[in-house]
Amino acid sequence: MAAYINRTVALGDPMIDSHKTSLDDKNSSPLQVFVLAKKQINHIFGDIQDYVADASERMIDVSTKCPDVINKSELTSIIDYTSKVKGIREVLTRDHMKVAFFGRTSNGKSTVVNAMLGDKVLPSGIGHTTNCFLQVEGSQTGESYLVTEGSDEKQNVESVGHLAHALNYEKQLNENELVHVYWPVDKCGLLRDDVALVDSPGVDVTPHLDDWIDAHCIDADVFVLVANAESTLMVTEKKFFHNVSSKLSKPNIFILHNRWDASANEPEFLDQFNNQEQVRKQHTERAVDFLVKELKVCTLEEAPSRIFFISAKEVLQARVQQRKGLAPNSGALAEGFAARYMEFEEFERRFEECISKSAIKTKFMNHSQQGKHVIKEMFKIMETIYSRSKEQTHDKTCQKKELEDKLNYTEQQLISVTQQMKMKIHSMVDDVEEKVSKALNEEIRRLSVLVDEFNLPFHSDPLVLNVYKKELHNHVESGLGSNLRAKLSTALAMNIEQSQRDMIQKVSTLIPEEKRNITVVNPKLEPFEVLYRLNCDNLCGDFHERLEFKFSWGLSTLVTRVSSLANWSRNQSRSLMSSPSHNQSINTLDGSFNGFDSNRIAVEQNLPLISRILTASIGTQGTMGGLILAGFMLKTVGWRLIVATGGIYGCLYLYERLSWTTKAKEREFKRQYVQHATGKLRLIVDLTSANCSHQVQQELSTTFARLCQLVDESASDLTDQMRYIDRQLQVLAQSTEVSKILRNKAEFLKSELRHFDDNFLSLRN
Ligand code: GDP
Repeated sequence: MAAYINRTVALGDPMIDSHKTSLDDKNSSPLQVFVLAKKQINHIFGDIQDYVADASERMIDVSTKCPDVINKSELTSIIDYTSKVKGIREVLTRDHMKVAFFGRTSNGKSTVVNAMLGDKVLPSGIGHTTNCFLQVEGSQTGESYLVTEGSDEKQNVESVGHLAHALNYEKQLNENELVHVYWPVDKCGLLRDDVALVDSPGVDVTPHLDDWIDAHCIDADVFVLVANAESTLMVTEKKFFHNVSSKLSKPNIFILHNRWDASANEPEFLDQFNNQEQVRKQHTERAVDFLVKELKVCTLEEAPSRIFFISAKEVLQARVQQRKGLAPNSGALAEGFAARYMEFEEFERRFEECISKSAIKTKFMNHSQQGKHVIKEMFKIMETIYSRSKEQTHDKTCQKKELEDKLNYTEQQLISVTQQMKMKIHSMVDDVEEKVSKALNEEIRRLSVLVDEFNLPFHSDPLVLNVYKKELHNHVESGLGSNLRAKLSTALAMNIEQSQRDMIQKVSTLIPEEKRNITVVNPKLEPFEVLYRLNCDNLCGDFHERLEFKFSWGLSTLVTRVSSLANWSRNQSRSLMSSPSHNQSINTLDGSFNGFDSNRIAVEQNLPLISRILTASIGTQGTMGGLILAGFMLKTVGWRLIVATGGIYGCLYLYERLSWTTKAKEREFKRQYVQHATGKLRLIVDLTSANCSHQVQQELSTTFARLCQLVDESASDLTDQMRYIDRQLQVLAQSTEVSKILRNKAEFLKSELRHFDDNFLSLRN
């Protein structure tokens, strides 16, 4: 240290000028590292703030569209980080390097601050005891003003005298209060480089040291103990720094032995240079002991670079002269000024290095760590959301594929089932038609039995007979209906039910299970029943009975019989010609001509002749014909035979006339009715069977249509579900994309912070 001072003394004034240049050269100042670091970390935190705000906005959007992708706690964390980062940014913009000056009253603290600022900013000297904390910091507006604690009011201070006056005016200020003095940054390099200098009341004036530390020193990067070189370190000064080091881990403490010029000006010192050296040595040893052994804030090697012997008054004076454009060493200066000036500059250099390094570490390391934590957590959240989105995209794609397959299967199955069912219904319809036709024909054949069963009293009176006919229509209609039902209904119903069950079974596989139970059960309460519409009233409405007595061997009857026989025979031969095999199945309506076929051809040949004769005999010339015939007969067979024949004929007539009772009339009526109804009913066999088969077709088609409708509904449900999944997939694609971008951006910001650490924190550790 002594060698260094000697060298400084030898260098003289030019060194001061050269250093002025180096001070002006901002880039060479260690403080610039802090400025640069602050700029960079501010920039990074600006990016982090934008990132978190963007992430928060996007994730709120994602959570509303697709809540499964992000859970509530993740969203809350992201939103919380937005305000947290905003808070850090606010602290960051306020962050500056802070140096606090402590020492007993009049040791020259204000003078040291002024010397460092290179101007008389704070009032010092007799009558200007600092009675509160004064923090000098840069004013970006170019104005100089002060702001008292708890107030936003800016009080203009043009000069030091003005400030002193203002501070005196604020005498009621508490010693613990902090007054901010803003000084234009262009007037001072330190302020421009974001250094705040805190001057304090003397440590000897108050017992509330702890309060001071807590209130104003806890965030200080460097503490400067301004001691008086003319005396040793006082207990109060030591006690204060003990308190500081107990509250902060390894605070950066500089010890300035001020008023070193005064020692040089002491007459007994002038001739005793060695004596001053001894004083310096003694002070240094004590200060080293204090820093290394008592406070344990630095090592033995570091300690000498924390202890300086200076004259703040001289430095301030020199810098004020320089500011005025005069030589810094003009005026009355004590011996060794240059060395003291150089030592002050050396203090400033060490101080700048120390404060820059310390502030970057204490302030930005913490911010960087907080930033890294936020980014790490954001990365984790984004990674989770990304993989969750991917997972859900995969699940949803599989679900969509399943639905697609199901829909295709349903459609294909429906086509195939429809085809099958069409065929089934068709065959059922044919079957029903055949069965009904067969059953109805059978019933028609058995109609006489049904008519015989009708036992309402018969009377030939036309009025009674009309009622009788009406009742007979009803009897035949209901009888036929119930007989058909008895024959067919159970079988048909079973067939239809079976077919319906088949349909349901086939189609139900295409309907979702939850709907199956509702739909499979046939909603019809009554079982299906075929309606046989046999309206006998209308059908046999044209029936006219012929109940007048007709002698079966009467001439007109015989003629009718013969002519009808002729007609019948002609028809039969025509049909024999076209279908000879049908010969066996000929049946007459009343059965009276059975076994007739052997003489059929002979009779047929003679029939026209007989018929003509008979017709002629009962025609307009009937009497004449009869006489001719009688004459002819009389001539050929003889009168006895004629009498016998006439007798038999008369008996026959009598017998028949007497047998023509109401009962016989009823029989004849029923016979005629059966004959008529059979003909009429035969006409509607095809129509009725077609009608019944149509009913069955309607029934089955309706059931199938209902089932098809359910399948269509389920297919449309599937399509709706697929559309919903499509929309979800779109949102998931968006969330995957967004989370991926945000995850990558988090990675980028992490690397930015790591880069910052490498540049400003790690290398300097
Ligand atoms: P503070 O109470 O600790 O702030 O002390 P001041 O800065 O107000 O200084 C008190 C007095 O000591 C003033 O008159 C200064 O001019 C004087 N003074 C400060 N530093 C020096 C110095 O280095 N040498 C001499 N001789 N006097 C000084």
